[in-house]
Formats: sequence, structure tokens, C-alpha cells
Amino acid sequence: MENAKNTGNSAPNFTATGDKFPNTVNTAVIVKDPTIVTLTWSDAQGKKIDKAKYGKKTFLRIETKASYGLSAFVVVHCDDWKQDYVGITPITKCFVPPFMQSDNDPEEAVFSFTPKVEWLTNVKTDKLNDIIAKVYIIHNKFGMLTPKLEELKQIAEEFKKNELYRNFLTHCKGYIIRAEKTEKIPISKIIIVIDPGHGHKSGDTGTEAWKYSHAIKNEKGDIKKNDAGEVVTQTSTFKTIPDYVYSNENACKEWQAKLLGRDGACNGWSEREIVFEIAELMKPKLEEAGHVVYMTRTEKVIASGLDNLENLYSRNNFSNEKNADYFISIHVNGNDANSSIWKRGAFYMYRKNDEQETINISKQLGVSLVKYLKTYNKDKTDFIPIVTETFQQKDLAVLSSDKTKGNKAKYKSLVEIGTYTNPKDAAILLGNKDVIKVTVAEQLVKGLLEHITNHFL
Ligand SMILES: [Zn+2]
Repeated sequence: MENAKNTGNSAPNFTATGDKFPNTVNTAVIVKDPTIVTLTWSDAQGKKIDKAKYGKKTFLRIETKASYGLSAFVVVHCDDWKQDYVGITPITKCFVPPFMQSDNDPEEAVFSFTPKVEWLTNVKTDKLNDIIAKVYIIHNKFGMLTPKLEELKQIAEEFKKNELYRNFLTHCKGYIIRAEKTEKIPISKIIIVIDPGHGHKSGDTGTEAWKYSHAIKNEKGDIKKNDAGEVVTQTSTFKTIPDYVYSNENACKEWQAKLLGRDGACNGWSEREIVFEIAELMKPKLEEAGHVVYMTRTEKVIASGLDNLENLYSRNNFSNEKNADYFISIHVNGNDANSSIWKRGAFYMYRKNDEQETINISKQLGVSLVKYLKTYNKDKTDFIPIVTETFQQKDLAVLSSDKTKGNKAKYKSLVEIGTYTNPKDAAILLGNKDVIKVTVAEQLVKGLLEHITNHFL
């Protein structure tokens, strides 16, 4: 029944129940034939959308004729939902100041709501289904030009309570419904791709703890030299590096400190492995929150096969194929300049040469991701600091905005959860593995979920 004809020019009666209503109310307005011209699903900016998302505010723009002063009653149905969503919104003139309005001015009602994953009968479902909005133009029961929204809302509540909306049409046929139109749109969950860094080429373990070479102290506290007058050096690990080296910011000069190479002490916890275990723990937590999650690789250890034949851009392809809304790359930082022994900390990265808006979005996500990150050592005497100065890099392939090989996810960020080349960060990361991977995963998820709530609009 599209654009149901008016039953006549006589003022229709409308009976409402509930203690705020008199039993019968006569509407005083003479009603023309109202029409719903178009229904358009759109975003907050009014731009037409072709897919709705759970967790994202969705707008239905209802363009009407001869409906000014009436109300649009909207029922949104999805086969996957526990119940329909109903709402009511007044129809107003648009673009015209009230004192200049005429009968021919365009009219509209804008209906908005945020579909929630909790509405699903099966929260774990990944399937993409349609939501269908049925819009009914109904009389404002008081026949006033400005609809009394509160009363109308109460009507909606009554309908909901008595489940009358399920057969709204039968119930109200020829009575208060003046027009009807239906529009559908597919709806899906938020799609998150987690990229446990590295493993994109053969043998790529990412970084790990390092060994350090440095001079040692003699009895007087100076650099120790042998009989030939040569400086005596020693190799230390993150566990054994003496404090007089580590605590001296000029140790490169004064103690000839330098990075020697990989420690080999990571023992199954190279960067590649830590970040994989963290990503694996994040996935079910995000799924529980109602999101769809994919990982860019499925193998933790170095293995033969496709996993090692990839390149970084294939991760962008993967993300694009999945239509990711979020792309989160997780890493552990490693520096290779000698002076970087003292550089520690966790931080986020974004691409330097992007458009300002892309940079802003990436930064905002980065801030959220590290917001709750606090990785302690076992006895809670030290933690990996969050580096607040903003890190950026010219070419982070997985965050690329390149038109052909770039990553199309709107929200993308790269997080370094600590710095392996720093002895203190290495000691924390390797000192309490089982606790750390769980807490880091929880903290990253907490920050990400908060970002979704606050910024996925
Ligand atoms: Zn890395």
C-alpha cells in the first residue's frame, strides 16, 4: 500500500490509550494526500550510503509532499534481530525559514538510530543481511502544525509494548496511516583486520633482544685498559648490561657502547611471535564485542609456504578484500643505531605524507590504542613508557594510501608495544611473557573498543 489515499477530507478520529490521553481526540486538520517521495539511507553528513554498520549511527532521510505537520512512523526490521526497531519523527519544511514557508516547499523528516549487535539473535553471525525500513506517515493526533513529539513517542511506546507495530497496517488501516514506503539496505558488523607484523618474507622474525658491547670499569671508575693500553670491552645482554653503562646517556662516547647484534635469548618470542600471540588473544575479545575480525597471517613461527612469500602490499590487498573498517598493525620496535640503546617505549605510528585528514584519523586511532597500554615487569617496579612525542615514518607500506596498492581501511594505525633493543624494555617483555601477552591484548582491545564507541561515526 504505497501512498495510501486519504479517506476523505473529514477530520479523522484517533483513539489513543494510556493515561495521558483522553479516549477520543478529534483532529482538526484538513488532510491532503500525503506522499513519501524518496527514502534515502545516509550518513551523518547526509551523504548516501550503500551499507549500514552495527555501531554506526545511521540516518534515513524521508522526503515527503503534503505531509508537513504530520509525523513519520518508522519500523526497521531485520530477520536477524530479536525485535523490530520503531521510532517516530516529525515532518518539517526544509531550507525555508518558518515565516516564508509555502505548500510547495520541500519537506523532510530525518530518522536516525544506531543498530546494535546486541539486537542480533545470534551475536556471532558474520552474515550480511538487509535491514528494511517501513515508513508510515501518520496524523499528528492533535492536528497541530508542530507535532507534539513526546505524545507521539508515547504512541510509539504503546505500539511497542503491545507489539501492535507488528501489524501496524491492519490495526490502523484507513485510519491514521496516510502513506507508506519501504527501503532496504545491507547491514554488516564492523570489520577489523589485525596485522601481526612481519613474516612477510622468508626468515623474517622481526626484531628481538640484542647484545651490547661496551668498555668496562677499572678500580678507579675509569675505562679499563690492558697492558698494551687497549680498551678492554665486554659483551653484555639486556640482563647483564651494567648500570654505569645503561644509566649514562653518553655511554656511546664514554663507554664505547654499541649494539652488537641479536641476543638469541628471545627463545620463541621474537617480535614476529609476540605480536602473533597478542593478535590471537585480541581476536576473540573483539568478536565477543560483536565485530568481525581477520588476521593477516595464520602462522606464528617461520614456516614454508605462502606466509613467507607475501609482501607487505599483499596485506593491504587482504584488508581491502575483507572491506576492513579498521587495520591495526602490531609490532615491537627495534633500533639499530648505537645511540638508540637508551631509546625505549611503546608508541603508535602514522604515515607522514598522507593527506591531513588521513593523518588526523590515524593519529586519533593511535592515541586510543596506546591509551590503556601499560606493560609492567613482574614485580611492578618498572613499565614500558608510552612515548608521547609523535612518531611518523615516510613509507609504512601497510598504512599506504596509494590508489592501487594502498590500504583502503579508513581507520589504520601501527602500534609498537615496546622497544626490544632497549635492555629495560627487553627485560620487561621477556620477563613475564604469559601475563604480558594477555594484558597487552586486553589493553589494546580496550582502547580500540573505546575508539569504535567514540569515533566510528
Ligand atoms: Zn616491526
